Amino acid sequence: MLLYDEALRNALAKVFGEDLDLFLRSLAEPGQRYYVRVNTLRISPEDVVDGLRFRGIEAYLDEELEEAIYIPVKGPYKVRLQDKVVITNKYAAESVYMGSNLYAPGIVSCSEGVKRGDVVTVVAENGVVVGEGVAMLSCGEIMKQRKGLAVEVYASVYKVPPIRDSLEYREGLIYPQSLPAMYVSRVLDPQPKELIVDVCAAPGGKTGHIIELTRGRALVVSFDHSRKRIDSMLSELDRLGHTPFVEVWRADSRYLHIDFSWIEADRVVVDPPCTALGVRPKLFDRKTYVDVLNAANYQLQFLRSATKILKKGGTLVYSTCTVTAEENEEVIEQFIEEERCVEPVPIETTRGSRGIRSAKHSYAYLRFHPHEHNTVGYFIAKLVKKC
Ligand code: SAH
Repeated sequence: MLLYDEALRNALAKVFGEDLDLFLRSLAEPGQRYYVRVNTLRISPEDVVDGLRFRGIEAYLDEELEEAIYIPVKGPYKVRLQDKVVITNKYAAESVYMGSNLYAPGIVSCSEGVKRGDVVTVVAENGVVVGEGVAMLSCGEIMKQRKGLAVEVYASVYKVPPIRDSLEYREGLIYPQSLPAMYVSRVLDPQPKELIVDVCAAPGGKTGHIIELTRGRALVVSFDHSRKRIDSMLSELDRLGHTPFVEVWRADSRYLHIDFSWIEADRVVVDPPCTALGVRPKLFDRKTYVDVLNAANYQLQFLRSATKILKKGGTLVYSTCTVTAEENEEVIEQFIEEERCVEPVPIETTRGSRGIRSAKHSYAYLRFHPHEHNTVGYFIAKLVKKC
């Protein structure tokens, strides 16, 4: 259920034309491949694939990115509606939809009679049936304790193995990350000995990848303004063994040129907040065109500051997990207009497609669309600072 206002639908129609419905429908599906990035500082992708297969998890190497492996997503399956139900919030519903177990904090309400051991149906707040499992707590315990495993899920609409419970995950050998997100650090092309800045870094997906690509031999400085997200970034970096190779700072990255004016980076990644219209699977979402315009305005502020801490000849990569032209091509083109020193650099890959046709530099951008490329929706632009 996607509650997008008319102006937002028109903005999406500008990008997708006749394929708008195909795009909107594809958001309810997860795509056929679940990707993880291998922490190549610790292990080879081949060894991870062998280990997973040994324990019965089907896994494959990606055709283009060496560090990427994927696990096929199974489904969709029909899930029955039992007498007893547990209602969950959007976030928990989306994970059960993919086969994860359900923990008490995600539960909004439950049928009063639910006892430990009962078979229950897990339903999202908007009424979508997402899974079935065995209650590990009674309804009273769930609502009172508010923590712990509440439903062990054995049937769901889609199914991916519980990667976050795997040995590989615990040992910091892998990081779940979408394929388009992996292209961001690849397009950045970080080199050993360089100073690389990630301005909106938490929880550290791109930072970690940069560390692996440079084998810990670059100076990586990562900023974010959210304490909570920085905390989860620090524990992720620790799990991966990346802590010695990065400095993490809490800052408002719209003002890095003022607060950290001495930085002269070789490369900068700008992966700012966005309307996340490319993220899937989505059971429901509510957004307006005003959200898009606000996001675009915010995104421009990060670009302005990031360019000022970039040295002459340096590279800036901009990315979002959304699909509107307003937050992507138009942000970049408005920025190029006002900042005469930057120009787009074409991105070399056979994956994805180019920017939307009406964009001036459409040849230079990289787009991923769920219904065309079987990935999440994503946008990447690469700029160089000439003066
Ligand atoms: N690059 C990350 C994802 C970033 S999501 C990854 O690959 O894992 C966008 C991030 O921008 C969020 O973590 C959010 O906390 C941060 N953010 C939002 N506004 C900010 C600001 N004004 N200054 C710094 N970070 C900000």
